[in-house]
Amino acid sequence: MPAYPSQIKSKLPKTGTSIFSVMSALAEEHKAINLSQGFPDFLCDEKLISLVEYYMRKGLNQYAPMPGILSLREAIAAKAENLYGAKYNPEKEITITSGGTEAIYAAITSVIEADDEVIIFEPAYDCYAPAVELNGARAIYVELTTPSYEINWNDVKKLITQRTKMIIINTPHNPTGMVMSAQDMKQLQKLTQNTDIIILSDEVYEHIIFDGADHQSVMRYPKLAERSFVIFSFGKTYHNTGWKMGYCLAPEELMREMRKAHQFIVFSTNTPFQYAFADMMKDPSHYLNLRKFYEEKRNLFLKLIADSKFKAKPASGSYFQMLGYKGISNEKDTDFAVRLTKEIGVASIPSSAFYHHAVDRKMLRFCFAKSDETLERAAERLRSV
Ligand code: GLN
Repeated sequence: MPAYPSQIKSKLPKTGTSIFSVMSALAEEHKAINLSQGFPDFLCDEKLISLVEYYMRKGLNQYAPMPGILSLREAIAAKAENLYGAKYNPEKEITITSGGTEAIYAAITSVIEADDEVIIFEPAYDCYAPAVELNGARAIYVELTTPSYEINWNDVKKLITQRTKMIIINTPHNPTGMVMSAQDMKQLQKLTQNTDIIILSDEVYEHIIFDGADHQSVMRYPKLAERSFVIFSFGKTYHNTGWKMGYCLAPEELMREMRKAHQFIVFSTNTPFQYAFADMMKDPSHYLNLRKFYEEKRNLFLKLIADSKFKAKPASGSYFQMLGYKGISNEKDTDFAVRLTKEIGVASIPSSAFYHHAVDRKMLRFCFAKSDETLERAAERLRSV
């Protein structure tokens, strides 16, 4: 149906359908093994499913309080203190959201104004820049170094201006698997001290970190925490990305603003799931064992493709592994990813999708949050390339 206003001025003229939807649809169409969009292909804990059912049958199916049920916020406050030594008031400084993405959008839209500048590291997860642009602000990009994907803090320093309102960090990092070090956090602290810069710290892969590294949450650094929205995802930690459950911690003044946006984006989020997660969080063993669980998957995937022509620098965190294909083809990464899906039967994400200028480094991102059997079948196909 043609729209009556014949001229609609797009607020996101350069944005198309997210690459994750595009590649998952292509995988489906060609019956390929889907290592593109990041989600587990195995079930979450039976106990969690029973708890959700229990609370649904108990009749807890109406709106939760706008910031989330208090017992879940209290469980999150206790976890933040135990793991990162940070004290957050569950009444005023923690909000349960409809996934990490909603938390990110609500945080950004609540504080970012027209003509503000927001520093984003590239390659970057795809939801940051559109949220900035929808608010009339500008994304200022800093490229991570290649091939090691580190932050060059001198580059960041040069780009900070009077207009810099926010810096977005993401550790462990999607798509590269990079993790920020204590040194990085100190540099960030040095750069932001005596400024009004707000930090948005996307830490949804906090428990998926390898080789004995410690997750450097901004919450470990009081001088960073006092200016930060810190964002987490139940979906990543409990293997149920489709439940769209996440949360955000921030000092009261920031959280007050964020909640103003949250209450008119979704108002509140799924009630029975909140009760179920509050119960699950009483036992930290699930999330404390997650690093081992995913490190084994990373190692298995790397071992299985060791004899292939793909080149890997092992991911230090997240459930993504970047693979270089220079030894195989000169094709554009988008073309190669499509061909790999159609002809070989393995879907991945071309890394250019994570750069605003579509920088093509001949790399693809593979999600290894899959059963060992799926990884074995996919690796067999990748070895045939
Ligand atoms: N976080 C997931 C990924 O990076 C995708 C989420 C989505 O599809 N929006 O693959």
